[in-house]
Amino acid sequence: MISIEHVSRRFGDGPDAVVALDDVSIQVARGQIFGVVGQSGAGKSTLLRTVNALERPDSGRVVVDGVEVTALTGQALRTERHRIGMVFQHFNLVGNRTVAQNVELALEATGTAKKDRRPKALEMLDLVGLAHKADDKPAQLSGGQRQRVGIARALASGPDVLLSDEATSALDPETTRQILDLIQRLSRELGLTVLLITHEMDVVKRICDAAALMEDGRVIEQGTLEQLITTPHSRVAAELFPVGEAHGIPGHRIVDVTYAGLSADRPVIAQLSRDFGLDVSILGAALETIGGVQAGRTRLAIPGDETTSRRVIDRLGDHGVTAWEVDPATTGTIATSASAST
Ligand code: ADP
Repeated sequence: MISIEHVSRRFGDGPDAVVALDDVSIQVARGQIFGVVGQSGAGKSTLLRTVNALERPDSGRVVVDGVEVTALTGQALRTERHRIGMVFQHFNLVGNRTVAQNVELALEATGTAKKDRRPKALEMLDLVGLAHKADDKPAQLSGGQRQRVGIARALASGPDVLLSDEATSALDPETTRQILDLIQRLSRELGLTVLLITHEMDVVKRICDAAALMEDGRVIEQGTLEQLITTPHSRVAAELFPVGEAHGIPGHRIVDVTYAGLSADRPVIAQLSRDFGLDVSILGAALETIGGVQAGRTRLAIPGDETTSRRVIDRLGDHGVTAWEVDPATTGTIATSASAST
């Protein structure tokens, strides 16, 4: 549905140039909720603006439902934008208009006849549970309610694609969950394809079907949530599913092991201890269901140096188990997983 193909974008020239996007390719399937996650400055906003054709790539292209948006201009571009709804971090509502009028503005922009605008706006507000606030001003609403209006406005033109630019970053955790659940419900009910950007892994874990992890303008890893959780290739992906704190233990290397489905950790670890004659300790384990995927992770302390941990990781790989070394210095403190089961 959304095909981002080898997109690069650089700002400025010479030594001060910033490469905001470096050969980014992402495929989002129809009806999927796809998250792009990364730290501030990773290139997420530039990517979203490129999909919306607010930004032109230096090279590469973006195709949305068969239309190459990066090649459109003028009226064709304006028409295409109506098929792409956008939700913003700070809601971007017009303060001196009522809630209904804010949604009507979007309908006006798409050429809806005047007499049809209010009924349609009320219908959209009903969809997000805010029809009773139609004649309030945005200032009378809570942050969560304002974002509901933002969503109603984004959906007013009947888009196939919804882009979300940190839609929940300005909201408290409970409101964040409500807004994410609303986006998920609407995506399922309306068959919307959603591309959202966020710096929060929790957002990805809560509603995304698939995600791409970005760092310094590049996609360092992407896949379905199941792939990212059960076979992470990067530390960033591993953090989708943290297990306690990564304490450094003198003379030991810290290794995380992850596996899909039910726990097979103890037999594997017992085998390791036998194979290597090592006294491997289990520092923590968690079993969690994320997006219907059951995944387990175990954090081990392995006595020895890097050569030992490398051999252990290779041996686990032979068993089809993904493992990677955790560096307590760079990983720092990871919140203890609430659902840690052992
Ligand atoms: P994110 O959304 O992940 O925080 P951005 O896409 O906003 O990242 O920015 C990526 C990089 O590109 C940053 O280094 C940012 O400073 C730079 N950048 C973004 N937009 C512009 C611009 N219009 N002019 C110059 N630099 C920009």
